[in-house]
Amino acid sequence: MLNELLEKLNEISQMVEKDFAEAKNPADIEAAKVKFTGRNGSITALAPMMGKIAKEDKPAAGKAFNEVKALVAKCMEEAKDRLDDGTAGGEAVDVTLPGRKWTMGTQHPVSRTIDECCAIFRRMGFTVAAGPEIDTVANCFDKLNAPLDHPSRDPKDTFYFDDGRLMRTQTSTVQIRTMLDQKPPIRIVSPGRCFRRDTPDATHGVHFHQIEGLYVDKNVSLADLKSTLKAFANEFFGEGVSIRMRPHFFPFTEPSAECDFSCVMCGGKGCRVCKNSGWLEILGCGMVNPNVLRNVGIDPEEWQGFAFGMGIERLAMLKYRIGDLRLFSENDLRFLKQF
Ligand SMILES: [Zn+2]
Repeated sequence: MLNELLEKLNEISQMVEKDFAEAKNPADIEAAKVKFTGRNGSITALAPMMGKIAKEDKPAAGKAFNEVKALVAKCMEEAKDRLDDGTAGGEAVDVTLPGRKWTMGTQHPVSRTIDECCAIFRRMGFTVAAGPEIDTVANCFDKLNAPLDHPSRDPKDTFYFDDGRLMRTQTSTVQIRTMLDQKPPIRIVSPGRCFRRDTPDATHGVHFHQIEGLYVDKNVSLADLKSTLKAFANEFFGEGVSIRMRPHFFPFTEPSAECDFSCVMCGGKGCRVCKNSGWLEILGCGMVNPNVLRNVGIDPEEWQGFAFGMGIERLAMLKYRIGDLRLFSENDLRFLKQF
């Protein structure tokens, strides 16, 4: 009789291990528990056999019962732990799948160039100023001494709104706003986006970025302007870069100059990029026109200043050897991931 009982309990033990191991959800676990130890469970059903066991065999039979019940408890705990880990089948996670790859974004070359420029000018004592991209004709042209027939006032070249405001054509608007707001001394750079009606090609776009500088103080001279630009050229492109200034005309500065940097591609020897001249046109600059200072309520007898402006895309194209302006706005990851 004892042997018969032990054999049946042994069979049940194997089913206990199998059923709990195959449980895929809490309902499976509960069903297995009922199947073995419930009111009509297979272990419960064997209990009456105890009465037929010889007295000397009862301890061994009792031990066998306890062992199989303990096994049910153990297998049930293990099955629950397994489901909690989410490692079971069904709706749980398949740990054999490759992980999802999260890639870090990189800084856009335009943003990176703006940051580099601002960092250089900050070290020279400039602060960074910002202004709106939509501004008034007064801030964009009138106060900057632009004559009424200035070509960029033409609606063919500039985006106007019905109320007369416009998309700024230069970040000089921020210079005007700053001078209207603050008393000298003023030392700012203003990076930002500007807009012109243009047909996009390799070197032109309808929007582009500029960084402009303005320094208004007592006894500011052209020498201060030149040394500031030279320091920038060497910090941004490297120690070997020299600069030269050529007379030019801008309404907002007097005298005005265009500033060239020695070619960063060929070191000044002459190449395709610099059209064999050894020089690259980089920026426009000059001493702030006294009319501009008067327009914003600053006495030009007491204060002088210099101003300069350059294109961010042009700086980025030269520094990072980028051949086409359109790459900046095409969102091609193969291009953007290089930065
Ligand atoms: Zn060159």
